[in-house]
Amino acid sequence: MADRPYELLRPSKESRSGLIFVCDHASNALPGTYGTLGLEGGAFATHIAYDIGAAEVARSLAAAYSAPAIIARWSRLLIDLNRGPDDPTLVMKLSDGNIVPGNRGADAREVAHRLAVFHKPYHDAIEAEIADMRAKGTVPVLISVHSFTPVWKTFRRPWEVGVLWDRDGRLAKPLLAALARAGLAAGDNEPYSGELENDCMYAHGTMHGLPHVLIEIRQDLIAKSDTARTFAARLKPILDEALAAMEHLQIRFMRPLQTPKGTTPMDERTRTELEAAVFRRLVAHLRSRTDVQNIDLMNLAGFCRNCLGDWYREAAGDKGIALEKDAARELVYGMAPSEWKKRYQKEASPEQQAAFAKASSNAAVGHKK
Ligand SMILES: [Zn+2]
Repeated sequence: MADRPYELLRPSKESRSGLIFVCDHASNALPGTYGTLGLEGGAFATHIAYDIGAAEVARSLAAAYSAPAIIARWSRLLIDLNRGPDDPTLVMKLSDGNIVPGNRGADAREVAHRLAVFHKPYHDAIEAEIADMRAKGTVPVLISVHSFTPVWKTFRRPWEVGVLWDRDGRLAKPLLAALARAGLAAGDNEPYSGELENDCMYAHGTMHGLPHVLIEIRQDLIAKSDTARTFAARLKPILDEALAAMEHLQIRFMRPLQTPKGTTPMDERTRTELEAAVFRRLVAHLRSRTDVQNIDLMNLAGFCRNCLGDWYREAAGDKGIALEKDAARELVYGMAPSEWKKRYQKEASPEQQAAFAKASSNAAVGHKK
């Protein structure tokens, strides 16, 4: 559809990669009614209007992976798609020190209009692709493509590629390692930090617990469409390597869950405390329901008390805190796991054992013995 604020690339064949590419700053175009926002035409050839080369790289990679891609159709000067709806820099009144005349007078009503017409449909399209893959039983992996200027003020940026991430390093870490092995100068959360609440990867990756990464490429490497395509071809095997090394292709929440729209907003700390309260209540429940057998939990839902202990140990490990397996499980049991077993564990019936063997052969989640 011509009036969509994005271009949706769907692969001709069924995507097997599970990847979804997005390019927020793909375009330097503006809808006709906005003219040039009062800027001189020359501004549209520069990074203030768009991420030079990024769209071509995103298209090439999406084609190479037969993956869908959502490519922004309008300039970030109209509205910045890599910002949350409440972000004060959503509609830039100043860009690189220059006033953007067509944005200077943009009042709350105009911003709301741009949100509804240009911002929301783009993010809805990303959500629809995610939902589509989830419905097919795939945990999608999101890859956002951007580009950065070689020089900022007087600083010559030493990186060729930047890998931006927040808390979820499942893809970012192996990608940084693979880039280094390939001899590329890679910046870890450079030239920008990936920790921006409500930006595109936060909204779609972090909040859904999906693996994701934002790749920034230095503009001089991809400024022309042929160099952009060449660079994408160079990036592909590096990305392959990182994807192959990635662990936990599962939903994992690395930040507290977002409360639904319309509920009282709470800060991250409060939400963390509420989630901890729920975990403590779950543990208390399991401690009192000693009649509930681990094998039945495993057979029914693919997790049990031991898994909870292991997840606790893994979470501690992510923070550099080493815990013994049994010590972490004891936190759940309230006693040594062996003691609990002696007191409460019943002999598993042949039926339970058979169900367990079957379930653990195709379980997506579960603890290792
Ligand atoms: Zn960008």
